[in-house]
Amino acid sequence: MFDTILIANRGEIACRVIETAQKMGVRCVAVYSDADAGAKHVAMADAAVHIGGSAPAQSYLRGDVIIQAALGTGAQAIHPGYGFLSENPEFVDAVEAAGLVFIGPSSSAIRAMGLKDAAKDLMAQAGVPVVPGYLGADQDAKVMATEAARIGYPVMIKARAGGGGKGMRLVENPADFADALTGAQREGQASFGDPVCLIEKYIQSPRHIEIQVFGDSHGNVVHMFERDCSLQRRHQKVIEEAPAPGMTDTLRAAMGKAAVDAAQAIGYQGAGTVEFIVDGSGGLRDDGFWFMEMNTRVQVEHTITEQITGVDIVREQLRIAAKLPLSYAQEHISYRGFALQFRVNAEDPKNDFLPSFGRISHYYAPGGPGVRVDTAIYTGYDIPPYFDSMCLKLVVWALTWEEAIARAERAIDDMRLHGIRTT
Ligand code: ADP
Repeated sequence: MFDTILIANRGEIACRVIETAQKMGVRCVAVYSDADAGAKHVAMADAAVHIGGSAPAQSYLRGDVIIQAALGTGAQAIHPGYGFLSENPEFVDAVEAAGLVFIGPSSSAIRAMGLKDAAKDLMAQAGVPVVPGYLGADQDAKVMATEAARIGYPVMIKARAGGGGKGMRLVENPADFADALTGAQREGQASFGDPVCLIEKYIQSPRHIEIQVFGDSHGNVVHMFERDCSLQRRHQKVIEEAPAPGMTDTLRAAMGKAAVDAAQAIGYQGAGTVEFIVDGSGGLRDDGFWFMEMNTRVQVEHTITEQITGVDIVREQLRIAAKLPLSYAQEHISYRGFALQFRVNAEDPKNDFLPSFGRISHYYAPGGPGVRVDTAIYTGYDIPPYFDSMCLKLVVWALTWEEAIARAERAIDDMRLHGIRTT
């Protein structure tokens, strides 16, 4: 195992990684920007390096400065968390060129899954079911309209480089296709520097169900069941739960196998998530799920998998990166009970969810059996305006779903978060 790692992130995920690493006896180096001098992850770490100005482009996205910080503090490996540089293959290459270990998959695995069109193509070849559609070799508006008609309306246009719900358009009526395509291409170019779009059949009553997978350097690939992330606002997850309501043993086995096949197809090493879209119009069917994309990093909602399986996902990430075998074979992984995660965002729900940054004048975290809070906030903390609005994750677990809901209601009632508006 490493004796020192650097965490190239901030907020709750930096704290989450530090917590596990320190439990494993690994020294942690934090990095921070001007906006984060008083941040919790800096206080928790064994050492901290200032890396630049408040905007992410001046700090958390500066791979070269972060690599220098790792070399200068004796870190042997870098954990990227989620967001920022976590799915940036050039960063992975630079980390390795500096003689350090990237705690995550290879750059080639990230590249294989980086663009939605190429990833879907690869998955179809590996026998993983994919949403019927058009992968966009020819971007001519007329050609694409013909393809949309062939797929059958409604269709979804997606920027292939898109993420976080950006660059997506639902088109119900052929007359709206051309405008929607222009809009998605423009958004793809503006947000991701890539205008190329694909078209997918729009799945009516879609459910988003994803599978947690792990691959190690010894050839082991396992999955840790599913998370249902269907409760979304503007294509962004709000509440996640595990197991998925209405899931059957046969569908779970089929989705687990498809996810493992997907990971094996790209020689995946690390923790990852294979996202599927599922037809939720009737009961779940064994043939009613399709690959959407793979996230090649730890997910925000990894917590609920930890609660139902008892596995520490960050610990497995560190073990895999250190070339140790996974701690568990598939037959040793089981799940128990029900877990839900509620994302608390610094947004004003009564004012169109506008960001609500500022000072937290009072914060009290709920507790009790089966209640977990992952956050980097504290009383007196100023939520800076430079980052994602998520400020806290409330996670509950119980043996029955009803009890999990009761614990959640009680925890939400008990929680105090004053000074800003939250969801
Ligand atoms: P992003 O990478 O921006 O998060 P995804 O491709 O993961 O985009 O899609 C985000 C969400 O949009 C999904 O969770 C689902 O709710 C919805 N969605 C995506 N594709 C389809 C589709 N073909 N049919 C219906 N809904 C879809």
